[in-house]
Amino acid sequence: KVRTRIAPSPTGFLHLGTARTALYSWAYARHHGGELVLRIEDTDVARSTQDSVDQILASMKWLGLDFDEGPIYQMQRLARYQEVVDRLIEQGKAYRCYCTPEELDAMREEQKARGEKTRYDGRWRPESGKLLPPPPEGVKPVVRFRNPLDGDVTWDDLVKGPITINNREIDDLIILRPDGVPTYNFAVVVDDWDMGITHVFRGDEHVNNTPWQINIFHALGAPLPQFGHVPVILGDDGLKLSKRRGAVSVTAYEEGGYLPEAMLNYLARLGWSHGDDELFTREQLVAWFDGSHLSKSPAQWDPAKLSWVNAQYLKQADDERLARLVADQLKQRGLDAGGRAGRLPAMCTLFKDRCSTTVELADWLSMYFAPVHPGEQDLAGHVTDAVRPALASLAARLETCDWTKAAISQCIKETIAEHGLKMPQLAIPVRVLVCGRAQTPSVDAVLELFDRETVVGRLHRR
Ligand code: GLU
Repeated sequence: KVRTRIAPSPTGFLHLGTARTALYSWAYARHHGGELVLRIEDTDVARSTQDSVDQILASMKWLGLDFDEGPIYQMQRLARYQEVVDRLIEQGKAYRCYCTPEELDAMREEQKARGEKTRYDGRWRPESGKLLPPPPEGVKPVVRFRNPLDGDVTWDDLVKGPITINNREIDDLIILRPDGVPTYNFAVVVDDWDMGITHVFRGDEHVNNTPWQINIFHALGAPLPQFGHVPVILGDDGLKLSKRRGAVSVTAYEEGGYLPEAMLNYLARLGWSHGDDELFTREQLVAWFDGSHLSKSPAQWDPAKLSWVNAQYLKQADDERLARLVADQLKQRGLDAGGRAGRLPAMCTLFKDRCSTTVELADWLSMYFAPVHPGEQDLAGHVTDAVRPALASLAARLETCDWTKAAISQCIKETIAEHGLKMPQLAIPVRVLVCGRAQTPSVDAVLELFDRETVVGRLHRR
């Protein structure tokens, strides 16, 4: 049975890169009717927080990435890692190393001075016939994995294809720290084994860890999962997407007014393809995602493309749902839709075609809930002496007409006829005064969604 996992380190928000590998792990498990495990890799105790776990869970929920098991916390499994370490030591596959940090530094300096690659020189590694010094007093040892000295580590990466590393290139890795906390490479292997993981999708940055992990799997007699290392995401400057260069957390996009289905679609497509399909549903993704067509080359984060994708989903989105999202956005701005909240869905219908995020939608709709401040230029350019009498008579008509789109439209038509104006000569100043902008959807439709008093009041501010 296919079992995949996502294994975030809870040291911040859910990063876009992690979200993407999580998405692939999820889609792969769902495609095969398998299971997804959520594992919290919290062994970096100083930097891990519960707050971050909560954020990660919230982002996964928002994206709709449901999991079947977990969250499992590594820090709650210390006894298990210790047990496995003890067994490896007994079997001679791991050993205690009493090197002090100073000794290790000196070792590295000497190696550098000789122009060699720095590596642990194996001084505490037991060999038959080798005499080890007695353990020094007062030094708490680390445990190192006794890596094979020669031979190749080979695997067929689901993304990168066959990879071979010679064991001479890797040294004896620390697997357990003096405080009993395992290192990443060891905990991951014990976990993937215990949790029955069959397929590992993760970021490229871990590809150099995989040879160690494979050796540890072998030492444990554990079956190897298949690995797929997904290339990094690059920012538009060609450098790895990072906090310093813009939003990198899923949360930031949620707050930025993106829809989860758009985000899911965009993230999936970033580094994976299904023909020319740009837009697809969650169900299609699951149906198509069989682990093939993952790109070998880095993906480029493209904010314009993401906006476009989001705009497509916004157009199709249910307006009641959009209304709830916009109401939240308005609330964050201190605006209360109050009694007019019932009109929000209609407002969304009217404006969503010109927006690519719900934040932009809220930018538009705030004119219904807060005073507008037309720019001096718009006022001077459009609300001229020539048009003021017409604005006054329109205001008078609007004060008594039925408050329907048809009646409002009728008032506007009568006013332009009366004053010998063309439609834009009246409609644009009305937009500037009432909406604070010169361009909007059809003016009668826009006005209808205001209260009569607001429209009349704003027309009088000339
Ligand atoms: N905790 C690791 C990370 O966040 C997970 C790596 C893995 O999937 O093995 O990068």
